[in-house]
Amino acid sequence: MVFVQAPGDSIKSIMPTEDKRQPECPKKSRLMDQYSAAIAEFSRTAAIVNMRMGVMYKGDYDRLTKAVDEARVLTEKAHRELLAHIEEHGC
Ligand SMILES: [Zn+2]
Repeated sequence: MVFVQAPGDSIKSIMPTEDKRQPECPKKSRLMDQYSAAIAEFSRTAAIVNMRMGVMYKGDYDRLTKAVDEARVLTEKAHRELLAHIEEHGC
């Protein structure tokens, strides 16, 4: 009887295939942070407008609604970037 020493890595071939997904993609988490920061800014400015509507000067109101609008645009942009990255990267 001949004993053949198995190469070290032959064990791996019988192991279940490992999950190839990366646990955490740094770019994805950066984009998600950006997205949630944009959402937070949007709800913050929108809440101020809702709370103080009718009790603030027109100039302040215009400035705030503009800030809400900009925050909304940023939120949408951040969301698109996040989705595009997930699509492209498969993460
Ligand atoms: Zn990624």
